[in-house]
Amino acid sequence: MSTMLELVDVHRTYLIGESTVQALRGVSVTIEQGEFVAIMGPSGSGKSSLLQILGLLDTPDKGDYLLFGHNVNTMKEDEQAGLRNTVAGFVFQQFHLLKRMNIVDNVRLPHIYSGIKGDFRKEAIERLTLVGLEHRIDHTPNQLSGGEQQRVAIARALIRDPMILFADEPTGNLDTKNSAEIMKILKRLHEEGKTIIMVTHETEIAAYAGRVITMRDGVIVSDERKSGTEPFATVAGGLNFDERVAKKVSLWQDGRFKGFIFQAIQAILANKLRSFLSVLGIFVGVASVIAMMALGEGAKAAMQEQLKSMGSNMLSIRGGSAKIRGAAQGAGAVARFTFTDVSDIAALRTLVKNATGVVNGGGRIVYGNKNWSTSLTGAGFDYGTMRASVPLVGRWFTQEEIQTRAKVAIVGVTVVKELFGNSNPLGKTIKINRINFKVIGIAPAKGFSGPQDEDDVVIIPVTTAMYRVLGKDYLSGILVEVTSPALIDQAKSAISELIRKRHRLKDDDDTFNIRDMTEIQQMLSSTTQTMSLLLGSIAAISLVVGGIGIMNIMLVSVTERTREIGLRKAIGARKSDIMLQFLVESVGMTISGGFIGILAGIGISLILSFFAGWAVKTSLISVVLATAFSAVTGIFFGLWPARKAAQWVPRSAWPALHADRS
Ligand code: ADP
Ligand code: MG
Repeated sequence: MSTMLELVDVHRTYLIGESTVQALRGVSVTIEQGEFVAIMGPSGSGKSSLLQILGLLDTPDKGDYLLFGHNVNTMKEDEQAGLRNTVAGFVFQQFHLLKRMNIVDNVRLPHIYSGIKGDFRKEAIERLTLVGLEHRIDHTPNQLSGGEQQRVAIARALIRDPMILFADEPTGNLDTKNSAEIMKILKRLHEEGKTIIMVTHETEIAAYAGRVITMRDGVIVSDERKSGTEPFATVAGGLNFDERVAKKVSLWQDGRFKGFIFQAIQAILANKLRSFLSVLGIFVGVASVIAMMALGEGAKAAMQEQLKSMGSNMLSIRGGSAKIRGAAQGAGAVARFTFTDVSDIAALRTLVKNATGVVNGGGRIVYGNKNWSTSLTGAGFDYGTMRASVPLVGRWFTQEEIQTRAKVAIVGVTVVKELFGNSNPLGKTIKINRINFKVIGIAPAKGFSGPQDEDDVVIIPVTTAMYRVLGKDYLSGILVEVTSPALIDQAKSAISELIRKRHRLKDDDDTFNIRDMTEIQQMLSSTTQTMSLLLGSIAAISLVVGGIGIMNIMLVSVTERTREIGLRKAIGARKSDIMLQFLVESVGMTISGGFIGILAGIGISLILSFFAGWAVKTSLISVVLATAFSAVTGIFFGLWPARKAAQWVPRSAWPALHADRS
C-alpha cells in the first residue's frame, strides 16, 4: 500500500469581481492507493473545489499537492493535461456526453488526446459491456435515460484504464434505483483495484465508500475510515505512475489530426443551418472574386484585341514640334512631306510594312438644303486597312481613283446623321467646298477619342484633297505601319534619320515629330488594371465580410460549447488540441465555402459570357488565389475564437460543467 495523493495546507480563494470567496482554507489530507473516499458536506463547503484540485483541473493558491510524490504545482499545463488523460478519469453530475456522437465515439473520445494509434472501438465496447450497455452501442446520448448516460460516462472514464476515478455527485441527477445501479458499478471498480474519490451529500451514497471525509466552510471537520474496509492493493491497468507520465504526445502523431478533421466535420454538421449561413458569406465572396477577376481579365483581353485592331504598331509622322504640337505654324518651322518621302519610308523594307500619305483640312459639306462643317482627311490607298477605315457599307477607293484625283467620298456616321438623317447616303452627290462628290461608302463607326468625334469626318483620295479641294502641294503627315511592335523604336530612329537627311535638317531642328501608340496602350492597360483592382477589391471586401461572419459564428460556438471544452480539457485535451480543433472547424467551413464558391464563380462567368456576351477569362491564378484566400480567412478569423476556446482554464470551465450544481 502506498500514498497516492497528499495535500498539505491547501488554500483556494476565488475572486468574484471585488469580493473574494475562500473555498478552501487549509486542507491537509492523504489518500492511499486503492481507497474509496467519499467527500461530504453541505452545499458550498468546498467539496467540488477540493475535487478539482485533486483532479488536476485547478491548482492551489497556497499549499502543496503531491501526486505519487511529484509536486503538481511545478508541472506544466500540458503535463497536467497528460495526467488527466492517463492517470485520472472523471464522472460528472451532468454526465457531459457529446450529443452529436454515438456512445461508442463518446467512450473512446479520451483516446484522441492519448497519442496512441488505433480506433479503440473494441475497447470502447468492452467498457460499455462493463457497465451493461453492450446492446446500446449504436445509440446517441439523447436516446438513453439518465442512468444509462451516467454509465456511458463511467465507461468513458475507464477507457484509459486510469488509476483514480474522480466523481462529483455522480448520482445527483438520478433516482434511487439508478443511483444504486451506478454505485454498484463504482463499488465493483473499487474492488477491481481503482482508487475512487467521490463527492456526494447523501449519506446512503457515502455508505458505499470505505472512508468519509466531511467538510464545512472550506476545512475538513471529520475523516472516518470504516473498520474492515481496507484499501484494495491491486492496481488496474498495469502501468505504474512513472510509466504513464513518460508518454509524450505530439500534435501530429498517429492520425490525431485526422481525428480532429473528423470531429470538425461532425461539429459543422451538428449545426447545419448555422454552418450553412457562415459558409454562405465565404461562398459569395469567393464566387465574386472568381467572377470579377474573370470579367476583369476578359475586359483586358478584349481591350488588347481592340488595340491591336487600332494598329498598335502604327507611327504617325507630322510636321511641327512635338512640344508645341499644333502651335508651330510659322513658315519654315514645319516640315512639308511629299510622296517621295512616303515611298522612301516605304522602301525601308525590314522595318516598314506600309506607309501612306495623309492630308488634313477642314471641309464644308452641303447636301440638299443642309450643310455641315467637318474635318476632311485625304487618304492614300493603304490608309483604309491601316486605320481600319474600310467601309462595311459601300467600298474603299480604288488605286485608279487615287491616281486620277476622282471626286468620291467616304463619310463618317456623324456626317451621315447630320446630312442624310435616316436616308441612304450611298450614291448620293454632296458638295465639299463647292465641288461635287459622290458618296461611295460609310466609314466604320469609331466613337470618341478624347473630346474628338472620330466619326465626324469625310475621307477622300489624298490627291483629290491636295490638288482639288485644299490647294496644297504637300502632305500633312505620313502614316507608317512597322513590321512588328518590337521594332517601333528602331523604325522611329531610322525614319527620323531619313527625314532629316532628305530635308537637310539639323539634329536639333524640331520641325516634325513621330508619334506611336504606346501612350494609348499604356493608358488603356492602366485603365484595365485599375478596373481589375477595383473589381478585385470589391470581391476581397465581401470575403472579409464573410470571414467576419465565420468569426462571429465561431465566437458564439465557443461560448456555447464551454461545457464541451471543459469536458475535453478534463479528459486530457491540451491548449493546442482545443485550438487546433476550432481552427480546423473554421478552416473547414471557409475551404468548403471557397470550393463551392469557385465552382459558382466559374459558372457565373460562363453564364455572363454566354448570355451577356461579355468577354470573360477565368484564370488558374484567380482559382488558386481564392482557395488560398479562403483558407487564410479561416485561419485568420478562426484564430481569435480558437485562442479564446483554448484559453479556458479547466478552473473556469468547471462551473460550466456544474452549471446546475447542487
Ligand atoms: P460544494 O461543491 O461543496 O458545493 P464548491 O467547492 O463548489 O462547494 O464551492 C465553494 C465556494 O466557492 C462556494 O461559495 C462557491 O460559491 C465558491 N465557488 C466555487 N467555484 C467558484 C468559481 N469558479 N468562481 C467563484 N466562486 C466559486
Ligand atoms: Mg459541488
